[in-house]
Amino acid sequence: MRTIGVLETVSAETDEPPSPKTVSPSTSRKNNNDKANRLIHRGAGASVVGIAEARRESFPTGKAARQFQRKYFPGVTAQDWNDWRWQLRSRIKSLAELERMFKLSDDERDAILRHKGSLPVGITPYYASLLDRDNPDDGLRRTHIPVGQEYIRTPGEADDPLGEDHDAQVPGLVHRYPDRVLFLATGFCSTYCRYCTRSRMVGEAGGDYSFSKSQWERALAYIESKPQIRDVLISGGDPLTLSDDKLDYLLTRLRAIPHVEFIRLGTKVPVVLPMRVTRALVRMLRRHHPLWMSIHVTHPSELTPEVTQAMARLADAGIPLGSQTVLLKGINDDIEVMKPLMHGLLKRRVKPYYLYQCDPITGSAQFRTPVSKGLEIIEGLRGHTTGYAVPQYVIDAPGGGGKIPLLPEYVVGRDGEDLLLRNFEGGIYRYKDPGGTVGADRQTPDLPIALAADGLGG
Ligand code: SF4
Repeated sequence: MRTIGVLETVSAETDEPPSPKTVSPSTSRKNNNDKANRLIHRGAGASVVGIAEARRESFPTGKAARQFQRKYFPGVTAQDWNDWRWQLRSRIKSLAELERMFKLSDDERDAILRHKGSLPVGITPYYASLLDRDNPDDGLRRTHIPVGQEYIRTPGEADDPLGEDHDAQVPGLVHRYPDRVLFLATGFCSTYCRYCTRSRMVGEAGGDYSFSKSQWERALAYIESKPQIRDVLISGGDPLTLSDDKLDYLLTRLRAIPHVEFIRLGTKVPVVLPMRVTRALVRMLRRHHPLWMSIHVTHPSELTPEVTQAMARLADAGIPLGSQTVLLKGINDDIEVMKPLMHGLLKRRVKPYYLYQCDPITGSAQFRTPVSKGLEIIEGLRGHTTGYAVPQYVIDAPGGGGKIPLLPEYVVGRDGEDLLLRNFEGGIYRYKDPGGTVGADRQTPDLPIALAADGLGG
Protein backbone atom coordinates (compact mmCIF):
# COMPACT_ATOMS: atom_id res chain seq x y z
CA MET A 1 0.00 0.00 0.00
CA ARG A 2 1.34 2.59 -0.88
CA THR A 3 1.37 1.26 0.69
CA ILE A 4 0.01 1.59 0.27
CA GLY A 5 0.05 -2.33 -0.50
CA VAL A 6 -1.05 -8.41 0.53
CA LEU A 7 0.03 -12.02 -0.01
CA GLU A 8 -1.57 -14.31 -2.18
CA THR A 9 1.56 -16.16 -2.95
CA VAL A 10 2.65 -17.00 0.55
CA SER A 11 -0.35 -19.19 0.37
CA ALA A 12 0.48 -20.30 -3.12
CA GLU A 13 3.56 -22.09 -1.94
CA THR A 14 1.81 -24.53 0.23
CA ASP A 15 -1.52 -26.05 0.98
CA GLU A 16 -1.07 -25.35 4.67
CA PRO A 17 -1.32 -21.85 6.09
CA PRO A 18 1.49 -21.07 8.49
CA SER A 19 0.53 -21.60 12.08
CA PRO A 20 2.01 -19.90 15.10
CA LYS A 21 3.97 -23.08 15.74
CA THR A 22 5.37 -24.16 12.40
CA VAL A 23 6.36 -22.83 9.03
CA SER A 24 7.43 -25.34 6.43
CA PRO A 25 9.55 -23.89 3.64
CA SER A 26 8.59 -25.10 0.24
CA THR A 27 10.51 -25.18 -2.98
CA SER A 28 7.49 -24.71 -5.17
CA ARG A 29 7.48 -21.46 -7.12
CA LYS A 30 3.92 -21.56 -8.37
CA ASN A 31 2.28 -18.20 -8.52
CA ASN A 32 -1.33 -18.92 -9.14
CA ASN A 33 -3.73 -16.32 -7.89
CA ASP A 34 -6.82 -18.46 -7.93
CA LYS A 35 -5.16 -21.20 -5.96
CA ALA A 36 -3.78 -18.63 -3.56
CA ASN A 37 -7.19 -17.15 -3.08
CA ARG A 38 -8.65 -20.52 -2.21
CA LEU A 39 -5.93 -20.99 0.33
CA ILE A 40 -6.35 -17.57 1.88
CA HIS A 41 -10.00 -18.31 2.30
CA ARG A 42 -9.35 -21.72 3.69
CA GLY A 43 -6.84 -20.32 6.13
CA ALA A 44 -9.26 -17.69 7.28
CA GLY A 45 -12.30 -19.81 7.75
CA ALA A 46 -11.15 -23.27 8.61
CA SER A 47 -12.72 -23.67 11.99
CA VAL A 48 -16.34 -24.20 12.96
CA VAL A 49 -15.92 -21.35 15.41
CA GLY A 50 -14.77 -19.12 12.52
CA ILE A 51 -17.83 -19.95 10.45
CA ALA A 52 -20.16 -19.25 13.36
CA GLU A 53 -18.33 -16.01 13.93
CA ALA A 54 -18.85 -14.97 10.32
CA ARG A 55 -22.57 -15.55 10.71
CA ARG A 56 -22.66 -13.26 13.71
CA GLU A 57 -20.86 -10.42 11.91
CA SER A 58 -23.25 -7.59 11.23
CA PHE A 59 -22.26 -4.85 8.85
CA PRO A 60 -24.36 -1.94 7.67
CA THR A 61 -24.90 -1.88 3.91
CA GLY A 62 -24.86 1.57 2.34
CA LYS A 63 -27.37 2.62 -0.29
CA ALA A 64 -24.92 2.44 -3.21
CA ALA A 65 -23.84 -1.08 -2.29
CA ARG A 66 -27.42 -2.26 -1.72
CA GLN A 67 -28.57 -1.04 -5.13
CA PHE A 68 -25.49 -2.46 -6.84
CA GLN A 69 -25.91 -5.82 -5.18
CA ARG A 70 -29.58 -6.06 -6.14
CA LYS A 71 -28.82 -5.20 -9.75
CA TYR A 72 -25.67 -7.19 -10.43
CA PHE A 73 -25.65 -9.93 -7.78
CA PRO A 74 -29.37 -10.54 -7.27
CA GLY A 75 -29.01 -14.05 -5.93
CA VAL A 76 -26.45 -13.13 -3.31
CA THR A 77 -27.51 -13.01 0.33
CA ALA A 78 -26.66 -10.13 2.63
CA GLN A 79 -24.59 -12.59 4.61
CA ASP A 80 -22.49 -13.45 1.57
CA TRP A 81 -22.17 -9.83 0.51
CA ASN A 82 -20.83 -8.99 3.96
CA ASP A 83 -18.42 -11.91 3.94
CA TRP A 84 -14.97 -10.71 2.95
CA ARG A 85 -14.10 -14.10 1.48
CA TRP A 86 -17.13 -13.88 -0.82
CA GLN A 87 -16.07 -10.40 -1.82
CA LEU A 88 -12.56 -11.62 -2.67
CA ARG A 89 -13.83 -14.63 -4.59
CA SER A 90 -16.21 -12.40 -6.53
CA ARG A 91 -13.76 -9.69 -7.53
CA ILE A 92 -14.41 -8.16 -10.91
CA LYS A 93 -11.41 -9.06 -13.03
CA SER A 94 -12.41 -9.74 -16.63
CA LEU A 95 -13.52 -7.58 -19.50
CA ALA A 96 -16.81 -9.50 -19.64
CA GLU A 97 -17.56 -8.80 -15.98
CA LEU A 98 -16.62 -5.16 -16.33
CA GLU A 99 -18.80 -4.80 -19.40
CA ARG A 100 -21.72 -6.32 -17.55
CA MET A 101 -21.53 -3.55 -14.96
CA PHE A 102 -19.87 -0.56 -16.61
CA LYS A 103 -20.39 1.30 -19.86
CA LEU A 104 -16.75 1.08 -20.94
CA SER A 105 -15.08 3.57 -23.25
CA ASP A 106 -13.08 2.23 -26.22
CA ASP A 107 -9.93 3.41 -24.43
CA GLU A 108 -10.79 1.42 -21.29
CA ARG A 109 -11.72 -1.67 -23.29
CA ASP A 110 -8.47 -1.58 -25.29
CA ALA A 111 -6.40 -1.02 -22.14
CA ILE A 112 -8.02 -3.99 -20.38
CA LEU A 113 -7.47 -6.25 -23.40
CA ARG A 114 -3.88 -5.14 -23.68
CA HIS A 115 -2.98 -5.84 -20.06
CA LYS A 116 -0.47 -8.54 -19.16
CA GLY A 117 1.46 -9.30 -15.99
CA SER A 118 1.42 -7.42 -12.70
CA LEU A 119 -1.15 -4.90 -11.55
CA PRO A 120 -4.12 -6.74 -13.04
CA VAL A 121 -7.63 -5.40 -12.89
CA GLY A 122 -9.33 -6.47 -9.69
CA ILE A 123 -12.18 -4.70 -7.92
CA THR A 124 -14.25 -5.98 -5.03
CA PRO A 125 -18.00 -5.87 -5.75
CA TYR A 126 -18.36 -3.63 -2.71
CA TYR A 127 -15.88 -1.09 -4.06
CA ALA A 128 -17.26 -1.37 -7.60
CA SER A 129 -20.58 -0.16 -6.18
CA LEU A 130 -18.91 3.20 -5.48
CA LEU A 131 -17.69 3.75 -9.06
CA ASP A 132 -19.73 5.62 -11.66
CA ARG A 133 -20.99 3.05 -14.13
CA ASP A 134 -21.49 5.43 -17.05
CA ASN A 135 -18.77 8.04 -16.78
CA PRO A 136 -15.17 7.01 -17.55
CA ASP A 137 -13.97 10.32 -16.10
CA ASP A 138 -15.34 9.53 -12.64
CA GLY A 139 -12.48 9.91 -10.19
CA LEU A 140 -12.70 6.60 -8.32
CA ARG A 141 -13.32 4.75 -11.58
CA ARG A 142 -10.11 6.19 -13.04
CA THR A 143 -8.20 4.84 -10.05
CA HIS A 144 -9.27 1.24 -10.80
CA ILE A 145 -10.15 0.81 -14.49
CA PRO A 146 -7.09 1.18 -16.75
CA VAL A 147 -6.85 3.44 -19.78
CA GLY A 148 -4.29 3.56 -22.59
CA GLN A 149 -2.14 6.20 -20.88
CA GLU A 150 -1.10 3.53 -18.39
CA TYR A 151 1.16 2.11 -21.12
CA ILE A 152 2.93 5.36 -21.94
CA ARG A 153 6.20 6.02 -20.12
CA THR A 154 7.00 9.70 -19.80
CA PRO A 155 10.37 11.22 -18.80
CA GLY A 156 11.30 10.59 -15.18
CA GLU A 157 9.05 7.57 -14.82
CA ALA A 158 10.30 4.15 -13.80
CA ASP A 159 8.93 0.77 -12.69
CA ASP A 160 10.62 1.12 -9.30
CA PRO A 161 11.01 4.87 -8.89
CA LEU A 162 11.75 4.68 -5.17
CA GLY A 163 14.63 2.27 -5.64
CA GLU A 164 13.06 -0.25 -3.25
CA ASP A 165 14.61 -3.23 -5.02
CA HIS A 166 18.01 -1.68 -4.50
CA ASP A 167 17.38 -1.39 -0.74
CA ALA A 168 15.94 -4.91 -0.41
CA GLN A 169 18.34 -6.78 1.86
CA VAL A 170 16.50 -10.03 1.26
CA PRO A 171 13.61 -10.37 -1.18
CA GLY A 172 10.57 -8.62 0.26
CA LEU A 173 12.39 -6.67 2.98
CA VAL A 174 13.39 -3.08 2.29
CA HIS A 175 15.90 -1.65 4.76
CA ARG A 176 16.44 1.97 3.87
CA TYR A 177 16.32 3.85 7.17
CA PRO A 178 18.61 2.61 9.94
CA ASP A 179 16.01 1.75 12.56
CA ARG A 180 13.06 0.56 10.49
CA VAL A 181 12.17 -1.83 7.70
CA LEU A 182 9.42 -2.35 5.19
CA PHE A 183 8.20 -5.97 5.25
CA LEU A 184 6.46 -6.78 1.97
CA ALA A 185 4.35 -9.64 3.21
CA THR A 186 2.33 -10.33 0.10
CA GLY A 187 1.79 -9.35 -3.50
CA PHE A 188 -1.98 -9.64 -3.30
CA CYS A 189 -4.48 -6.80 -3.01
CA SER A 190 -8.25 -6.89 -2.90
CA THR A 191 -8.33 -4.13 -5.49
CA TYR A 192 -5.57 -2.80 -7.73
CA CYS A 193 -4.93 0.92 -7.92
CA ARG A 194 -3.71 2.07 -11.31
CA TYR A 195 -1.16 4.44 -9.72
CA CYS A 196 0.32 1.83 -7.38
CA THR A 197 3.91 2.50 -6.36
CA ARG A 198 4.46 -1.27 -6.32
CA SER A 199 2.70 -1.96 -9.58
CA ARG A 200 5.74 -4.01 -10.63
CA MET A 201 5.15 -6.57 -7.87
CA VAL A 202 1.45 -6.77 -7.07
CA GLY A 203 -1.03 -9.14 -8.62
CA GLU A 204 0.61 -11.49 -11.06
CA ALA A 205 4.28 -10.78 -10.53
CA GLY A 206 6.94 -13.49 -10.49
CA GLY A 207 10.64 -13.98 -9.73
CA ASP A 208 11.79 -12.13 -6.61
CA TYR A 209 8.28 -10.83 -6.26
CA SER A 210 6.84 -14.31 -5.70
CA PHE A 211 6.16 -13.94 -2.02
CA SER A 212 6.50 -17.12 -0.08
CA LYS A 213 6.79 -18.50 3.41
CA SER A 214 10.46 -19.17 2.91
CA GLN A 215 10.83 -15.53 1.94
CA TRP A 216 9.08 -14.52 5.17
CA GLU A 217 11.53 -16.67 7.11
CA ARG A 218 14.53 -15.02 5.48
CA ALA A 219 13.12 -11.59 6.22
CA LEU A 220 12.41 -12.53 9.84
CA ALA A 221 15.94 -13.91 10.24
CA TYR A 222 17.34 -10.66 8.86
CA ILE A 223 15.32 -8.58 11.35
CA GLU A 224 16.40 -10.90 14.19
CA SER A 225 20.03 -10.32 13.23
CA LYS A 226 19.83 -6.50 13.26
CA PRO A 227 19.32 -5.10 16.76
CA GLN A 228 18.99 -1.57 15.39
CA ILE A 229 15.62 -2.40 13.77
CA ARG A 230 12.96 -1.17 16.15
CA ASP A 231 10.07 -0.49 13.74
CA VAL A 232 8.55 -2.84 11.14
CA LEU A 233 6.01 -1.65 8.59
CA ILE A 234 4.12 -4.62 7.15
CA SER A 235 2.81 -3.87 3.72
CA GLY A 236 2.73 -5.42 0.27
CA GLY A 237 0.32 -5.83 -1.50
CA ASP A 238 -2.13 -5.55 1.37
CA PRO A 239 -1.47 -7.50 4.57
CA LEU A 240 -5.11 -7.45 5.65
CA THR A 241 -5.94 -9.79 2.76
CA LEU A 242 -3.96 -12.48 4.57
CA SER A 243 -5.96 -14.88 6.68
CA ASP A 244 -6.16 -14.20 10.40
CA ASP A 245 -3.91 -17.21 11.03
CA LYS A 246 -1.16 -16.03 8.72
CA LEU A 247 -1.20 -12.49 9.95
CA ASP A 248 -1.27 -13.68 13.56
CA TYR A 249 1.74 -15.86 12.81
CA LEU A 250 3.70 -12.99 11.32
CA LEU A 251 2.83 -10.59 14.12
CA THR A 252 3.64 -13.22 16.74
CA ARG A 253 7.05 -13.85 15.18
CA LEU A 254 7.82 -10.15 14.99
CA ARG A 255 6.62 -9.55 18.54
CA ALA A 256 8.99 -12.28 19.72
CA ILE A 257 12.00 -10.27 18.50
CA PRO A 258 13.10 -8.26 21.54
CA HIS A 259 14.34 -5.20 19.66
CA VAL A 260 11.17 -4.76 17.55
CA GLU A 261 9.31 -2.12 19.53
CA PHE A 262 6.73 -1.02 17.05
CA ILE A 263 4.72 -2.65 14.24
CA ARG A 264 2.66 -0.88 11.64
CA LEU A 265 0.29 -2.25 9.03
CA GLY A 266 -0.17 -0.41 5.73
CA THR A 267 -3.51 -1.28 4.18
CA LYS A 268 -6.29 -0.20 1.90
CA VAL A 269 -8.62 -3.02 2.97
CA PRO A 270 -10.75 -1.04 5.45
CA VAL A 271 -11.74 1.19 2.52
CA VAL A 272 -12.13 -1.29 -0.35
CA LEU A 273 -13.12 -4.42 1.62
CA PRO A 274 -14.42 -3.08 4.94
CA MET A 275 -16.15 -6.37 5.82
CA ARG A 276 -12.67 -7.85 6.26
CA VAL A 277 -12.51 -5.97 9.56
CA THR A 278 -14.29 -8.71 11.46
CA ARG A 279 -14.55 -8.93 15.20
CA ALA A 280 -12.23 -11.92 15.09
CA LEU A 281 -9.62 -9.93 13.18
CA VAL A 282 -9.59 -7.03 15.61
CA ARG A 283 -9.49 -9.42 18.57
CA MET A 284 -6.38 -10.98 17.08
CA LEU A 285 -4.77 -7.64 16.21
CA ARG A 286 -5.21 -6.21 19.67
CA ARG A 287 -3.09 -9.01 21.08
CA HIS A 288 -0.11 -7.52 19.28
CA HIS A 289 -0.05 -3.99 20.63
CA PRO A 290 1.58 -1.56 20.19
CA LEU A 291 0.22 -1.92 16.68
CA TRP A 292 -0.52 1.05 14.43
CA MET A 293 -2.28 1.17 11.10
CA SER A 294 -1.95 3.41 8.05
CA ILE A 295 -5.05 3.35 5.88
CA HIS A 296 -4.93 4.33 2.21
CA VAL A 297 -7.86 6.64 1.46
CA THR A 298 -8.50 8.63 -1.71
CA HIS A 299 -11.81 10.45 -1.70
CA PRO A 300 -14.64 11.40 0.67
CA SER A 301 -17.08 9.25 -1.30
CA GLU A 302 -15.21 6.23 0.10
CA LEU A 303 -16.35 7.08 3.62
CA THR A 304 -19.47 4.91 3.58
CA PRO A 305 -21.36 3.35 6.50
CA GLU A 306 -19.36 0.16 5.91
CA VAL A 307 -16.06 2.00 6.16
CA THR A 308 -17.26 3.88 9.22
CA GLN A 309 -17.98 0.55 10.90
CA ALA A 310 -14.59 -0.90 9.96
CA MET A 311 -12.73 2.12 11.25
CA ALA A 312 -14.77 2.14 14.47
CA ARG A 313 -13.86 -1.50 15.14
CA LEU A 314 -10.18 -0.82 14.59
CA ALA A 315 -10.20 2.33 16.72
CA ASP A 316 -12.17 0.56 19.47
CA ALA A 317 -9.45 -2.10 19.50
CA GLY A 318 -7.03 0.63 20.50
CA ILE A 319 -5.20 0.70 17.18
CA PRO A 320 -4.00 4.24 16.39
CA LEU A 321 -5.19 4.95 12.86
CA GLY A 322 -3.50 7.26 10.35
CA SER A 323 -4.40 7.91 6.74
CA GLN A 324 -2.29 7.98 3.60
CA THR A 325 -3.64 9.72 0.54
CA VAL A 326 -2.02 9.97 -2.86
CA LEU A 327 -2.62 13.31 -4.55
CA LEU A 328 -4.29 12.46 -7.85
CA LYS A 329 -5.00 14.79 -10.74
CA GLY A 330 -8.68 15.36 -11.36
CA ILE A 331 -9.60 13.01 -8.52
CA ASN A 332 -8.73 14.63 -5.22
CA ASP A 333 -6.52 17.59 -6.16
CA ASP A 334 -9.01 20.13 -4.92
CA ILE A 335 -9.41 21.65 -1.50
CA GLU A 336 -13.18 21.14 -1.85
CA VAL A 337 -12.50 17.40 -2.01
CA MET A 338 -9.54 17.17 0.31
CA LYS A 339 -11.03 19.12 3.21
CA PRO A 340 -14.17 16.96 3.57
CA LEU A 341 -11.94 13.90 3.24
CA MET A 342 -9.72 15.03 6.11
CA HIS A 343 -12.73 16.02 8.22
CA GLY A 344 -14.42 12.70 7.49
CA LEU A 345 -11.32 10.83 8.60
CA LEU A 346 -11.05 12.76 11.85
CA LYS A 347 -14.71 12.04 12.60
CA ARG A 348 -13.86 8.36 12.20
CA ARG A 349 -10.85 8.64 14.51
CA VAL A 350 -8.30 8.47 11.72
CA LYS A 351 -5.54 11.08 11.86
CA PRO A 352 -4.69 12.40 8.40
CA TYR A 353 -1.04 11.39 8.24
CA TYR A 354 0.54 11.64 4.79
CA LEU A 355 -0.49 13.34 1.58
CA TYR A 356 1.82 11.83 -1.03
CA GLN A 357 2.89 13.40 -4.25
CA CYS A 358 2.05 10.63 -6.72
CA ASP A 359 5.21 8.59 -7.40
CA PRO A 360 6.48 8.64 -10.99
CA ILE A 361 5.76 5.02 -11.78
CA THR A 362 5.52 4.06 -15.42
CA GLY A 363 2.27 5.33 -16.92
CA SER A 364 1.38 7.63 -14.03
CA ALA A 365 1.48 10.99 -15.87
CA GLN A 366 -2.31 10.94 -16.04
CA PHE A 367 -2.42 11.02 -12.23
CA ARG A 368 0.41 13.36 -11.32
CA THR A 369 -0.14 17.02 -10.46
CA PRO A 370 2.46 19.75 -10.26
CA VAL A 371 3.95 20.03 -6.76
CA SER A 372 2.39 23.48 -6.48
CA LYS A 373 -1.01 21.75 -6.29
CA GLY A 374 -0.05 19.83 -3.17
CA LEU A 375 1.30 22.99 -1.57
CA GLU A 376 -1.89 24.82 -2.47
CA ILE A 377 -3.93 22.12 -0.74
CA ILE A 378 -1.83 22.26 2.43
CA GLU A 379 -2.12 26.04 2.32
CA GLY A 380 -5.89 25.64 2.06
CA LEU A 381 -5.96 23.42 5.13
CA ARG A 382 -3.37 24.86 7.50
CA GLY A 383 -5.01 27.52 9.66
CA HIS A 384 -8.33 27.05 7.91
CA THR A 385 -9.27 23.92 9.79
CA THR A 386 -8.31 21.81 12.79
CA GLY A 387 -4.57 21.22 12.92
CA TYR A 388 -5.17 17.49 13.32
CA ALA A 389 -6.84 17.54 9.88
CA VAL A 390 -3.66 18.64 8.12
CA PRO A 391 -1.54 15.79 6.76
CA GLN A 392 2.16 16.04 6.03
CA TYR A 393 2.70 16.57 2.32
CA VAL A 394 5.69 14.53 1.14
CA ILE A 395 7.56 13.55 -1.96
CA ASP A 396 9.15 10.13 -1.76
CA ALA A 397 12.42 11.01 -3.44
CA PRO A 398 13.15 8.99 -6.57
CA GLY A 399 16.14 6.70 -6.27
CA GLY A 400 15.66 5.88 -2.59
CA GLY A 401 16.03 9.31 -1.02
CA GLY A 402 13.15 8.71 1.35
CA LYS A 403 10.22 10.97 2.23
CA ILE A 404 10.92 14.66 1.98
CA PRO A 405 8.33 16.95 3.62
CA LEU A 406 7.12 20.02 1.77
CA LEU A 407 5.45 23.08 3.27
CA PRO A 408 4.17 26.29 1.76
CA GLU A 409 6.60 29.14 2.44
CA TYR A 410 5.71 30.83 5.71
CA VAL A 411 9.06 32.55 6.33
CA VAL A 412 9.06 35.69 4.21
CA GLY A 413 12.31 37.34 5.29
CA ARG A 414 14.21 38.99 8.09
CA ASP A 415 14.49 42.50 9.42
CA GLY A 416 17.43 42.69 11.83
CA GLU A 417 16.47 40.57 14.84
CA ASP A 418 12.95 40.12 13.56
CA LEU A 419 11.94 37.06 11.63
CA LEU A 420 9.12 37.93 9.27
CA LEU A 421 6.42 35.32 9.00
CA ARG A 422 3.30 34.97 6.93
CA ASN A 423 0.18 33.57 8.55
CA PHE A 424 -2.63 31.57 6.95
CA GLU A 425 -4.51 34.74 5.98
CA GLY A 426 -1.50 36.35 4.29
CA GLY A 427 -0.78 38.75 7.18
CA ILE A 428 2.87 39.40 7.96
CA TYR A 429 4.07 39.09 11.55
CA ARG A 430 7.33 39.74 13.32
CA TYR A 431 8.87 37.26 15.68
CA LYS A 432 11.80 38.43 17.81
CA ASP A 433 14.62 36.01 17.01
CA PRO A 434 17.87 37.48 18.38
CA GLY A 435 20.98 35.87 16.96
CA GLY A 436 18.94 33.99 14.36
CA THR A 437 19.72 33.79 10.69
CA VAL A 438 16.59 32.17 9.27
CA GLY A 439 15.22 34.37 6.49
CA ALA A 440 18.40 36.46 6.22
CA ASP A 441 19.02 35.16 2.72
CA ARG A 442 15.73 36.54 1.51
CA GLN A 443 14.96 40.00 0.40
CA THR A 444 12.83 41.75 3.01
CA PRO A 445 9.45 42.31 1.45
CA ASP A 446 7.82 45.70 1.25
CA LEU A 447 6.03 45.73 4.56
CA PRO A 448 2.78 47.43 5.38
CA ILE A 449 3.50 50.75 7.18
CA ALA A 450 1.57 49.62 10.22
CA LEU A 451 3.81 46.60 10.54
CA ALA A 452 7.03 48.62 10.22
CA ALA A 453 5.78 51.16 12.82
CA ASP A 454 4.32 49.03 15.57
CA GLY A 455 5.76 45.64 14.92
CA LEU A 456 2.41 43.94 15.05
CA GLY A 457 1.71 43.53 11.41
CA GLY A 458 -1.14 41.66 9.90
S1 SF4 B 1 -2.61 -1.79 -5.68
FE1 SF4 B 1 -3.44 -0.25 -4.27
S2 SF4 B 1 -3.86 -1.41 -2.38
FE2 SF4 B 1 -2.45 -2.66 -3.62
S3 SF4 B 1 -0.38 -2.10 -2.92
FE3 SF4 B 1 -0.86 -0.83 -4.66
S4 SF4 B 1 -1.69 1.04 -3.79
FE4 SF4 B 1 -1.79 -0.52 -2.19
